[in-house]
Amino acid sequence: MDAQQTLTGTGLSDALFAERAPARVSPPAPRTVIIVGAGFSGTAVAIHLLRLPHAAPLRVVLVERASFARGVAYARREKSYLLNVPAARMSASSTDPLEFLRYAQRTLPHATAEDFLPRELYGQYLESSLLAAAVASPPHVRLERVHREVIAIEKARRTRALEVYLEDGRRIISHNVVLATGNPQPAPLRGCEEVRDGRYVADPWRAPVAFRAGETVLVAGTGLTMADIVLAGQDAARGRATIHAVSRHGLIPARQGHLQQVHDPCHGPHLLQGASVSLRRLVRDVRALAEESERCGGDWREAITAVRSLVPALWQRLAAHERRRFLRHVRSYWDVHRHRLPERTWSALDDLRRSGRLLVHAGRILAVQSTGRQLRVTWRARGAGASGTLLVDRVVNCTGPEYDLRHTRERLLRSLVVQGLAVSDSLALGIATDEFGRLVDTSGRAAANLYYIGPMLRPRYWETTAVQELRAHAERLACHLALPAGSWASA
Ligand SMILES: Cc1cc2nc3c(=O)[nH]c(=O)nc-3n(C[C@H](O)[C@H](O)[C@H](O)COP(=O)(O)OP(=O)(O)OC[C@H]3O[C@@H](n4cnc5c(N)ncnc54)[C@H](O)[C@@H]3O)c2cc1C
Repeated sequence: MDAQQTLTGTGLSDALFAERAPARVSPPAPRTVIIVGAGFSGTAVAIHLLRLPHAAPLRVVLVERASFARGVAYARREKSYLLNVPAARMSASSTDPLEFLRYAQRTLPHATAEDFLPRELYGQYLESSLLAAAVASPPHVRLERVHREVIAIEKARRTRALEVYLEDGRRIISHNVVLATGNPQPAPLRGCEEVRDGRYVADPWRAPVAFRAGETVLVAGTGLTMADIVLAGQDAARGRATIHAVSRHGLIPARQGHLQQVHDPCHGPHLLQGASVSLRRLVRDVRALAEESERCGGDWREAITAVRSLVPALWQRLAAHERRRFLRHVRSYWDVHRHRLPERTWSALDDLRRSGRLLVHAGRILAVQSTGRQLRVTWRARGAGASGTLLVDRVVNCTGPEYDLRHTRERLLRSLVVQGLAVSDSLALGIATDEFGRLVDTSGRAAANLYYIGPMLRPRYWETTAVQELRAHAERLACHLALPAGSWASA
């Protein structure tokens, strides 16, 4: 792909690059918004910005180092993975909930609202929505795409602008920058840094996973990624690999179900609002709500849906020590009930467990050592005093993103941390932001024009992984960025 692309037909203009800025008097320069990262979050912000009315000229520059409008989740892959959420809940627009379903029905006429459709199709939908928004935007609103990695962002010395540095040495000046860089890589497993020959997969979304028939594999983590990797790996091994999956609690995600809403949708939220001051009371009331739904002929997922709509408010009201207790005692249970698997995926996993091809353990991995052709994994089962060992042919790290900014290996984030422009929260859950998504710096002040959107919004909202939450943030951020010039930096 070209280094510079534009959907409006004109390449990235030279004026955008500081070192070649023209000296002539020209019409007022368009306000520039640079979005770093074109996964779901960055693409959704761009789409909504392009769709909004703008009185003044606007240039939206989308910078992406991999494929546009895909991100990790919706990339083209050898294996066709399914979405974990039904089609009717995957629209990128909250005002048009069936937008994705209608798009999908063009190629899959029989697709229904409850179907779990291919992730790759979802990527096509995002690409197509971005293109349509760019084509429909008026001439003074332009989208430009730059296929490069951003390695640093700095404050300009004499103006309030930001300088965005690309890996090829170029610098772009921007009035506003939105970081939409997605999930960081998982933290490395102890001892695996030395294993460099494909027996250790540090991040399964960055390397194709292929297990061989007859081999024994250790998967660290038992969440949604584990499910994807185990099924893809067993496909490659024609069902003849033996897989051990280990996590602290050994819990695997629950299955999706066709939600039977038996209560008025306001019933649950109303009930739970009163419980939000205490974690213990909250957990008790969610359980009671789930049991009540089951008794009335519905199911427990109704309670999860009720809490989900309140999560940001509940999270913000919990005191720091209650949040800490949540992370220690409740989080694993919340995660497996909230982030569920499509029935088909869950059943395939269950079949593997029954046949002994997948063994799920609760415990902690203590060390991984290379011993000739194999890897020796030392681990301790939950509640056990002594540790045990497993000899495996391969280890796959499915522990999920390393959210602690202090340990990030991303060049751009590291540069922001070093400058004091980005900080983690006290629980190391992600990036500290204010209510508009502006980064909070080391002195506790919100940046004038540097924003973040994506899964690392967890310190403020807790649940910010799925499309349903991220699209709301994208819409809000686009509206904020579309405020008339003058109110941008200080709004
Ligand atoms: C495998 C998987 C499946 C999922 N399935 C579902 C689902 O079915 N339903 C649902 O609701 N949610 C799902 N999610 C969750 C959710 O959709 C994603 O977390 C969401 O897509 C996050 O989008 P993002 O844009 O913030 O991050 P990402 O998708 O990670 O995108 C970030 C982008 O930024 C780019 N980038 C990063 N740094 C730089 C840089 N310095 N310079 C230039 N580019 C950069 C990356 O290349 C990437 O394309 C899934 C998540 C995963 C990982």
